[in-house]
Amino acid sequence: MDERSYSGMAFLGDPLIPSPVTIVVRDGIIAKIEDESNVPSRWICPAFFNAHTHLADTVAMDITCTGDLESLVTPPHGLKHRILAESSPELLTIAMRSSVTSMIQGGTAGFADFREGGAAGVSILQNACRDLPCRPVILGREGGEAVSDGAGISSARDISSYAEVVSRMKRDGRLVAFHAGEKDSSDIDAALACEPDLLIHGTHAAPHQIRAIADAGIPVVICPRSNFLLGVTCSADHPPVREMLEQGVRVLIGTDNAMFVQPDIMQEISFAHTVYRIPPAELLGSATAGLEAAGVNHSIREGNPANFNILDISDSNLQFSHDPVASVVKRSPVDRICARVFYIESKLIEQPLGGGPHV
Ligand SMILES: [Zn+2]
Repeated sequence: MDERSYSGMAFLGDPLIPSPVTIVVRDGIIAKIEDESNVPSRWICPAFFNAHTHLADTVAMDITCTGDLESLVTPPHGLKHRILAESSPELLTIAMRSSVTSMIQGGTAGFADFREGGAAGVSILQNACRDLPCRPVILGREGGEAVSDGAGISSARDISSYAEVVSRMKRDGRLVAFHAGEKDSSDIDAALACEPDLLIHGTHAAPHQIRAIADAGIPVVICPRSNFLLGVTCSADHPPVREMLEQGVRVLIGTDNAMFVQPDIMQEISFAHTVYRIPPAELLGSATAGLEAAGVNHSIREGNPANFNILDISDSNLQFSHDPVASVVKRSPVDRICARVFYIESKLIEQPLGGGPHV
């Protein structure tokens, strides 16, 4: 049996509250959380889950471009789709692997990617992630949905066969996710009628749609920086995050197109906090919740797989923080991550702390 333990101020519960504890991990599973009176100057934060990415567009990173949502990212003729079609599998593999590596460095233990390019596109992302300590949830299209975790449907407005795809996914027990409400509210009802596992954006969801989403228990992934950069919002009114939270919608966080936005969740929540004034504990909970529909839950609690980051705050101005959860959200202290403890594919991957019994 492999047993390790980690002491520090761990962010526990919902909402997240820092508590001085030792976390005992046996064979990758959190076996015990013991209260302590004194702990080292470390914060232990659940690992991030990036709930919406398009990592293939790393190949088009920060390309000089102007245009609206349609001309840049809408299939099949948007700029990114033309660039993807011209990129070799080798280039896409290297590009996606480099983005996944940077996500790991930023404390992210898993992500949900809308993968273009059919079944071949899915296999390129699977190869890109090989042996990396980060769990991909891959949502394919154009045949990719049949060989991945499920379907990532670009708006019901764009894809005429979406109903057929949804019924195949439900029959096969795979996930269904839709982009919905990104530029206006007109594609939300069609997506909702399919009872999806996940909606992406909800930027222009109307109050009755928010209520319907909450009633159906469907999580919504917000991607604030992408929304601002693509010009589908210019104020804190969209996406209506506060209304979503008030109605009880489970909000998750995604970074969307790697073409425009670094897939860095700490930067995303810092931006979201500044613009939307979402309480830090709620925002950090959204960024670390995982994806229940895919069986991913990063909460630090007994019985869960260990998935957390350890931040060394000694020798840093963070030691003056009165609210560690707020400081993680507002200050993106990625440079303070001294160890990642991720349980991936039934293996505990710990870097770079050693494997001694006490840390
Ligand atoms: Zn997207």
